[in-house]
Amino acid sequence: MASESAIKTDPRLSDSTLRSLVDGLVLIDAKGLVAFWNPRAEGLLGWAAGEMLGQRVIEMIERMAARAAAPDAVRSQLQAAFEPEAADTAIDIELLPASNHRVRIVSAQVFPLCGEDGGQVGTGILLRDITRERESDAMKSQLLSTVSHELRTPLASIKGFATTLLRQDVKWDEATQRDFLRIIEEETDRLAEIIDNLLEMSQIEAGALRIAKEPTQLRQMIREVVDEMRMRTEAHYFVVDLPAELPRVSIDPRRIRQVLHNLIGNAIKYTKGGQITVGCEVEGEHVVVSVTDQGEGIQPQFIDKVFERFFQVDGASTRRVGGSGLGLSISRGIVEAHDGKMWVESMMGKGSAFRFTLPLAINEESE
Ligand code: ADP
Repeated sequence: MASESAIKTDPRLSDSTLRSLVDGLVLIDAKGLVAFWNPRAEGLLGWAAGEMLGQRVIEMIERMAARAAAPDAVRSQLQAAFEPEAADTAIDIELLPASNHRVRIVSAQVFPLCGEDGGQVGTGILLRDITRERESDAMKSQLLSTVSHELRTPLASIKGFATTLLRQDVKWDEATQRDFLRIIEEETDRLAEIIDNLLEMSQIEAGALRIAKEPTQLRQMIREVVDEMRMRTEAHYFVVDLPAELPRVSIDPRRIRQVLHNLIGNAIKYTKGGQITVGCEVEGEHVVVSVTDQGEGIQPQFIDKVFERFFQVDGASTRRVGGSGLGLSISRGIVEAHDGKMWVESMMGKGSAFRFTLPLAINEESE
């Protein structure tokens, strides 16, 4: 008959090796008593070896079930895993947070321990914290469903108008045909934009966005971008407010131009008209660039959310102008890749001011 010592004296498993395992390890002997409890098991479950060694397996299962979000399911799964002849079983246990902790998900892999003769001498439990994996899985599927929804909307419209145009039982006059084709063209552009934005977003998130910094005159860049954007609207007028002295900044001009395009584009899209001011000020080692509009503003509860990917304030005006909800998160990502910050200040009925910082170029003369 196998005994407790069959586990402890196995020369292949040195005590210190088991103790330093990154995973939690619990060994139950043939009498059904806890014979080993490594520090990581204590870290994951919160009970020290001193408290657990010698406890009956049934008591251990009861403790685990009591801490689980679904105690009954965990209890019955663990009991089944400890039945004689039970095969390897993996049980995911969602542990309720102790105070100041967050919910953790621990995977418990229960496996038979076999002695020299192949007979079972006990049972092992390998405990692994899989909270991060689970969170990232959940994020991925959330992203996937949002992406497919976002792509589906323009696609449905393209398909709908193309099908309508192809109908043989209806003759569309030329003006209507052109209207339908224009919508197809716009929606195709929107699809392409969403895909470009997604690729850029994934580069930013993977930290793979390449930034080619060079000393750049912001004055000229801001003036050029404002001139381009002026052509897109008749309802707005632009004010460029720059200090007399504006040192060069160390930036990737193409990327920062893209940020300015996005912020000014939003100021046009999300306000009915009025003044759009593009300004900058030198503050210490940085330049603070701002794009200020006179629109309806952003409700306080959405102030931080507008930078989240795919977030769009769900108002009639927002939906009317389309967009993918990726512009601001990409812009913030680009600014952060320059070690800058981006934020917004907004007052309902008065307008919004989007600001971001850029590092000053190191003065070549002082080098
Ligand atoms: P998109 O413009 O593609 O929807 P953005 O990430 O650029 O995505 O913007 C996210 C949301 O923030 C917009 O849908 C809009 O609701 C809100 N928003 C952005 N800029 C402004 C602004 N200047 N005034 C009011 N709301 C804005």
